[in-house]
This record gives sequence, C-alpha cells and structure tokens, in this order.
Amino acid sequence: MHTDFFPGRSWLEINLEQLIKNLDIYRSALPEKSEIMAVVKADAYGHGDLVISRKLMEYGIRNFAVSNIDEAIRLRDCGITGDILILGYTPTSNVKHLIEYDITQTILSEEYAKELYGSNLGRIKVQFAIDTGMNRIGLDADDLEGAEAVIREYYDKFDVKGVFTHLATADSDSDEGRSFTNEQIDKFSKLIKRISDLQLGQIHCLNSAGGIFHKTPFHNIVRLGIIMYGLRPDYNNELPIGIKPILTWKSVVSMVKEIDSGETVGYGRSYMAEKKMKIATIPTGYADGYNRLLSSKGYVIINGKRANIVGRVCMDQMMVDVTHIPDVKLGDEVILLGQSGEELITADDMAQLIGTIGYEIVCGISKRVPRMYI
Ligand SMILES: *Cc1c(COP(=O)(O)O)cnc(C)c1O
Repeated sequence: MHTDFFPGRSWLEINLEQLIKNLDIYRSALPEKSEIMAVVKADAYGHGDLVISRKLMEYGIRNFAVSNIDEAIRLRDCGITGDILILGYTPTSNVKHLIEYDITQTILSEEYAKELYGSNLGRIKVQFAIDTGMNRIGLDADDLEGAEAVIREYYDKFDVKGVFTHLATADSDSDEGRSFTNEQIDKFSKLIKRISDLQLGQIHCLNSAGGIFHKTPFHNIVRLGIIMYGLRPDYNNELPIGIKPILTWKSVVSMVKEIDSGETVGYGRSYMAEKKMKIATIPTGYADGYNRLLSSKGYVIINGKRANIVGRVCMDQMMVDVTHIPDVKLGDEVILLGQSGEELITADDMAQLIGTIGYEIVCGISKRVPRMYI
C-alpha cells in the first residue's frame, strides 16, 4: 500500500503494528474477557476505515460499528465481512440497503422501530438502543415496562442481534461521574434481566473508557473506539502502558526567512516580532484540518525542537518561530502530531490547547491529507 508514496506537503503516517499492539494491551487490561466490536465510524476516526478494518479483520475482529449506511456499504464493498452495526440513524428510504448488504441497524426509538418495520422489505437485523441517561437515542430505561414491551413487540418482527446502552461519563474519575455510570449500568441490567428469556445476542454497554475503568457482568462485547487509535477518552485518563497514538502527522518547511523587530506575521497582523526572528512557513493549514484556533497557541516539532505558531493559521499554510533552532531549511521534516527527539505532541495535547478532545482533532484531519500506512 502506498509503497510508491512520495512524501510531499502534508501527510499522515499510520502505524498498523501499533494498532495491533494497542488492541492486545487493551484486551489484556479488560477486567472481563469479552469480545471487541471495533468502532470504525468517521473513517476510523480519520485513520482510514478500509485499511484499518482490513487489518482488524486479519487480526480476528468480527464485529464493526459505524455511524451510517454509507460507511457500512463502503466497508462491505471493500470486502469487510462479519457483522456491521450502524450506531445511528438510517433513513427508511435506505432500508433496502440494510438487507442487500447484510447490515445491522440500531433501533433508536419505538417510533423508529415502527417506521423501519413498516418499510416492509424483509426481516431486518437490528440491535435495540436503550437510553439509560445519555438522552440521545434509545428506549427509555426509566420506563422499564415500556422498554420491555417494545422489545417484546418487535422481537419477532426483526432479526434481533443485540441490546445496548451508552455511558455518558465512563471516562470520569470523579465520584459523581462514577456514580452516574453505576446508575446507568444498573438500569441497563434491570432491563436485561426482565428480557433474559429472549435470545438477545450481543449485550453491551461499554465504550473504550468503560471497558477498562468499569467492571460489570452486563456485557459480552465492548465497543472499542478511541483507545484502539491510542488516544485518551478524557485528557485525565491514564491509559495502560504501551498504548500509543498510531498516527503521525507530518509536513515540511517550505520557506525560511528572517524578520526584524516590529514586523508582523500573517493575516490581521495579530503577531508582532519583538526582536529579530527566524520564521519558517509550513504548507499545512485549516483546510487540511489543522485547527485555526491553534493560531499563536499551537506548536510543531522541527529537528526535535518545539516551534511555536506565530500569527494566524491560514487555509493552506502557517508560520512558526524557528529563531532558536539552528539550520532550519527548505524541505526539513515537521511533526504536527507525533514524536521527534525529546518532544511529543499528541492529538490529545493539541486538543487541550483549544478546549476540545483528541477525537475531534483526528476526525478533523481533512481528506486532502494523504494517509500512508507503515
Ligand atoms: C463512538 C461510539 C463508541 C466508541 O466510543 P470510544 O469512546 O471512541 O471508545 C461506542 N459506542 C457508541 C454508541 C458510539 O457512538
């Protein structure tokens, strides 16, 4: 794959061996040995869903989760076998594809179940989402009888493959967060007990964080997303030792120049030099998914040293201060995310600078940045 790749302007290097290491370490850290459902939605969190899913399949993963029907079909068209669960909404106009491509749809609500069943195109594979406190999708577990009734009503109408809920604070180590998680798991387990006479298939309530921070017998499969990619659900989470980001984002120096004290850099002249400085231009900008909020806040790594962004990130370029780094020249490699020498910047670190989460950083790296697999 990409063996003829010529390092160019801005690109990702994705380490598939590290992906497998992360999986191995995660599995051994799971309190209960359970199966893994690999969450590869949003192009595998920006890492490239096809290559990642193929590698996972080779590793033995048989269960995949995506966000929508287009992602599901893409995986099938490229030879991904095993179960594919759509975690979100599929318009009923697309129901025929669920059957044609053998894809499992989440039941979002009773109303949705009715609509899906009403499309009358065959027996659709489904999993029931249960709302235990997220208030996003699912049958309301505060009304156990009602939720049970819906599941029983539709049990024969669909091919039921599972029941799941989603935790809102699985990554929190505060007392409040943990107790909310316990409440959610408690509600879920009460419902599961009421319908334990049914063949429910997959029963799941844990995401990446849940899998390692919470112990509960009420699951037989874990939905693993962010930690597989080596990032943290929450910045404060300690990941098991050896789990590392699988992605490095690289660019190059496209120009170096010296500026005098009093000169400004970039749009809006938001940065003014207070001394003579050496500035390097980097051909990566917000159209590549390098967040503009990192203007005068973020940093990159050049020759193993930090270089701070000066002025505003442009659409396709940005400028950094390399006054303190000797011999920076055209073509030098720049690390936007990753490690070089003693310096490291992860998507989690970058996210922290601008008040978001690593998930958004990696999902935001745009399609014009080629993905290269090593
Ligand atoms: C995205 C998602 C996950 C994966 O979450 P991570 O925190 O990335 O592990 C699991 N379950 C559902 C329902 C999701 O939407």
